[in-house]
Amino acid sequence: MEVESQVLDERKEFVCYNSKNESSRLRCDENSVSGAVSQRACVYCGARVVLNPITDAFHLIHGPIGCASYTWDLRGSLTSGSEIFRNSYSTDLSETDVIFGGEKKLTAAIDEIVEKFNPKVIFVYATCIVGIIGDDIDAVCKKAEEKYSLRVIPVKSPGFSGNKASGYRAACNAILKLIGNKKSKNKINGINYLGDFNLAGEIWVVQSYLKRIGIEVVAKITGDGKYDELIKAPEAKLNIVQCAGSMEYLGKKMEEIYDIPYIRVSFLGIADTENSLLQIASILGDEDTIKKAEKFIEAEKAKIQKTIEYHRKRLIGKKAAIYVGGGYKAISLIKQFNELGIETVMVGTQTGKPRDYEIIKNITKEGTVILDDANPYELEKFMLEKGADILVGGVKERPLAYKLGVAFCDHNHERKHILSGFEGAVNFAEEIDLTVNSPVWKYV
Ligand code: SF4
Repeated sequence: MEVESQVLDERKEFVCYNSKNESSRLRCDENSVSGAVSQRACVYCGARVVLNPITDAFHLIHGPIGCASYTWDLRGSLTSGSEIFRNSYSTDLSETDVIFGGEKKLTAAIDEIVEKFNPKVIFVYATCIVGIIGDDIDAVCKKAEEKYSLRVIPVKSPGFSGNKASGYRAACNAILKLIGNKKSKNKINGINYLGDFNLAGEIWVVQSYLKRIGIEVVAKITGDGKYDELIKAPEAKLNIVQCAGSMEYLGKKMEEIYDIPYIRVSFLGIADTENSLLQIASILGDEDTIKKAEKFIEAEKAKIQKTIEYHRKRLIGKKAAIYVGGGYKAISLIKQFNELGIETVMVGTQTGKPRDYEIIKNITKEGTVILDDANPYELEKFMLEKGADILVGGVKERPLAYKLGVAFCDHNHERKHILSGFEGAVNFAEEIDLTVNSPVWKYV
């Protein structure tokens, strides 16, 4: 089925109705169509969102003050130690710097941070204006490293130089630069946890599950990350990647550089949490570890079964729309809605890959709307057309849903409660039930 004429011609190949008979590929993993009002953030924001959760790092934004307004408040990752990452530093470039160059100001800002705070690591982000005036941030960072014997890592993230996914890649390259090129001979029977940002403490939930089955977390990248922990990452035997959109690239590079294999995991929903734990146990553990994992999973499932069933009865037959950052999260959410008896009628992502969309096509019904890099108009149009009862998304999608009188669930940076693991599955079911079945929708 072809998408309607109201969708921009240049966007039509990025939107489709799922059809099992068609072999045509949905276009994705490309730069946004100019003027189509993408929901994606800029390259710098993509890089910042990935690096900011490193708790004891200083984040210095080389650019106008406006870019620095993207701070911890927009992704409230929790910390078990340092609170440094909750601050933002900026070189506050102005017209004079644009004409004469901003390198002196950047050097002065680094000097001031070193003098006042004695940092272990500073990330220096290049913003749009730095890409235009051509400041050599590599040279400034290198000089500062030599002068102070600390890590000063440039992040190549001018806002216009690609899309949000290019920012993820810039962040991953910065992490690799921080870790260095050395393989480790002393291996620990543990994992690096890539692509979880410790919202509401979710990384600790998964860490506690792994501990129960005898598997250690060597480095958390990047939620609740710490400099001393990050540089030990080459010692792990396995990398697990939760947010593949932002960190599968890092997984691949770490396999190349440090010989650490990686697997994609998801701790969203009961089925994916169970599969991920069993997969990790079977790769890193012996038969005893697998038995421990199975026992643990059975016990956790038994604890939540009644509650999930209660919400399922109240939600069966409802329809959901999903618009999230990465493909893997969308896939987990479709499965989670299935567990609750809810059909997904519209699903889209900002940075999904062809492989993600293939899976999405296979696990959704005929006629489900699938979109890549959607804009507000498309989201509103297809939510209405498909009669969605709830939209799951982030802060930019919230007003779209409320404007239409559709319930909304925040599954992004701003939420304050756990949605991962078994307890997360209960929170999710409870929130969807409360929201979808709220009496307020009668008055809209
Ligand atoms: S880097 Fe560019 S697009 Fe991004 S916030 Fe700064 S000015 Fe805006």
